[in-house]
Order: sequence, then C-alpha cells, then structure tokens
Amino acid sequence: MASSEVDYLLFVHSARQIVQVVGNGERVVTGEALNHVAVLDNGDDARGFSLVVSNDGLICDIGEDDEIRQKYENKKFLNTVNAYGRCILPGLIDAHTHPVWSGDRVKEFSMKLAGMTYMDIHKIGGGIYFTVEHTKKASTSSLLESLQARLKEMLKSGTTLIEAKSGYGLETQAEMRLLEVLEMAKGGHVEISSTFCGAHSVPKNMTSPEATEAVLNEQLPALAELIQSGKVTVDNIDVFCEKGVFDLDQSRRILTAGKEMGLQINFHGDELHPTGAAEMGAELKAKAISHLEKISDEGIKAMARSGTVAVILPTTAYMLKLTPPPVKKMIAEQVPIALGTDFNPNAFCCSMGIAMHLACVLCGMTMEQALHASTINAAASLGKADTHGSLEIGKFADIVVINAPRWEHIIYQMGSQASLIAKVIKQGRIAYDNQDSSFLV
Ligand SMILES: [Zn+2]
Repeated sequence: MASSEVDYLLFVHSARQIVQVVGNGERVVTGEALNHVAVLDNGDDARGFSLVVSNDGLICDIGEDDEIRQKYENKKFLNTVNAYGRCILPGLIDAHTHPVWSGDRVKEFSMKLAGMTYMDIHKIGGGIYFTVEHTKKASTSSLLESLQARLKEMLKSGTTLIEAKSGYGLETQAEMRLLEVLEMAKGGHVEISSTFCGAHSVPKNMTSPEATEAVLNEQLPALAELIQSGKVTVDNIDVFCEKGVFDLDQSRRILTAGKEMGLQINFHGDELHPTGAAEMGAELKAKAISHLEKISDEGIKAMARSGTVAVILPTTAYMLKLTPPPVKKMIAEQVPIALGTDFNPNAFCCSMGIAMHLACVLCGMTMEQALHASTINAAASLGKADTHGSLEIGKFADIVVINAPRWEHIIYQMGSQASLIAKVIKQGRIAYDNQDSSFLV
C-alpha cells in the first residue's frame, strides 16, 4: 500500500509506557528538572497508550488506547504496531560522532592497555595521523560503505539522529571529500547533522599557526564554495581546542570565521588540559562544547549563562581513563547536558545505551538525566529541539520500541540492546524491525 492511499502512516497501540521525555514544549532541560521524565504510564492497569503519525511523518496524536481507537476508528494506517507490554521512547540522538574514516586502531587499544596515553601514541605517529593516512588512501565508495555500516549499527542501537564530523582529511580536498561522503549517506534512516572539523589536528608537516591559516584561508573558502554549489549541507563548525593542538586564540579565530558563514559553533574543549575553552565558547555563544573533563568553575558559570550545551562523552573518559568531567556540578549550576558516543577509531562505540550507562556509572548521572541528555538536550545541541528529541504532537515520529515494561532498561541492560530493541521508527516509518528481539525480564 502506498502512503498516498492511507490516512495515516502509523498507529502504535497498547504501549505500557509512552516516554515523552518532555510534554510541555520544553526545548532544553537543566538543573532539577532533569530528574523528571514525562512518562504516560497507567501502572499495572491494563489501559495502554497509543500514538498516531500523520503522512508527513509527524506525531499527530497521543493518548489512552480507548480514546485514540474511537477517534481513528475508520481510518487506514500504513503500519500498525502492537506495543503491548512494551515501552516506547524517542529515537536516541548522538550529539558527537566521527563516523567517516578508514583504518581501525585496534592495535592502539592494546598499547593503551599497556599504559601509553593518547598523547604518547599521537607523538609516535599513531592516533589521528594513522587514521588520516588510511582515510586518504581509501576510495570514496569504501568510505561510504563503512559509514553506512556504522549508521546501521547505530540505528540498531536506537539512534535516529547524529552529529557527524569530518576531520580525518586535514587538507582542503580531503576534508571536502569527507563532507561529501556524509552528504551521500543522508536521506537514510539515521539523520545526519554535518560538522566541518578541518581543525581536528595539526597536519604532520605544519605548525599550528600554519595550520590555522590553512583552515582560515584555504579550507573555509573551499567549504563556502561547496555549500554555495548546493553539493553539501553543513550545520556546524568544530575545532580541537587543546594544548599542543589549536590554542585558544587560534580556535577562536576559526570558530568565529565559521559562525560568520552561518555555521553553529560546536567544538572540542577542555579535554586534556584546562585551556579556558568553555569561557571562550560561551563568549562566542557556542551551541555546544564537547568533553570538558578539565572545565574550570568560571567556565561552568559562563556556559550556564550562555546556554551552551555541554556534550559529555563518557566512552572516551572510560577508554582513556580520564577523570570524568564534573557533571554534577554543571547540572547544579544549570548547564544543559547532552551525551554522545564520540564514535571514532579511538573509542569504537555506536551505542547510546552504553554511553548512557557509562554516564550514570562514571559521571554520577541519574538515569533520568542521561535520558534527557540523549534526547531533548542532544537535539538542542544541534539546534533541532523544535522538531526532535521528545514524543510530542507536531514533532517527528522518531521512536524506539523496547521489549521491557519500563524505559530504564535501555540503560540498565548493558550491552543487550540487540535483544531489547524491538523496532526503530524514523519519521513514522519502520526503519529497523528486530525479529530476534525478546523480553529478558
Ligand atoms: Zn570527538
């Protein structure tokens, strides 16, 4: 049946829980409110909940089964999902990924286990240089193929929107190619917000002042031309603001130039050393700053004032054995918190379920905070909270159906998403149907 012959795309009924996350049009959640998730739940009562999706992929109704059934009695739906005993929640949003590259770094994992640090490995030509080298040699089609395989894995883990960076090119043409590969992957089940990250590292043959000039005078003009030509859409600009990489002033110049091109500022800061990145980003009204393991108290206050979202990456803190960022303090000071997997060859994790689990255990977040951070606040970090991040009327019907009676299982069942996630729905269409899904509880 074509969607033109039906009245509605989707009818989901009998859900034990509909986890809206927020229900009053909130666009970002901070402080104490992070501990209250909006959930429709009748307890052990048999009355379940339903949700209806219109032909444009938007949620058009949510309510108790009886009420919705009556209202839509004679309507035709393209798909119907019986969610009896199950829980439905918004598609997860991964606020920070590096998904386009070739050359895995499984060998470095063993070096790190033997005690080497990220910077030790970087200095002997490993780390990002290894990936840049392999990415350069890879064909465009093989880069696209591996990207699509990773997106599929993310989808199976419940992710329906990601922030995705370039950054393993470092030279103008190589960076533009990675943005083009990201563009080719758009229109699939995992939506992509593209980020230009030409200043991900200083190329081997350059100093950081030289690399800064190359980004400003070569890469950004090429990017502007590529955007103008309509070949790519790019949403965000990133830089790795770190001691020994791009310093505070260099980062500020690159980010400002990107903002003048209309890009949202969304960058790596205060990860390995306190550099004042949070204060600088807040001053530039950055949409988001990632990592922040070494954020200062001043930086926390500045981000709270500017409303800049802190993107916490517990997978990296875990892999690199970093002291986790002071998330509790940030929440107490009203900084909006989002989460990302930081998927990259150094932290090979596609699962927001794992990121949430680690956020709870390592950063002391509550499950309620972690869920907000992976839905509405992650949407806010990408400027998409008007359309994504909660199950509310008028928003895109990006939905995860899990085989559990309560949503917390998506965090609690560490590493079992493959069984837990029954279906993933993107804009009202079934994007992933897991035939092997079963109730483990
Ligand atoms: Zn990163």
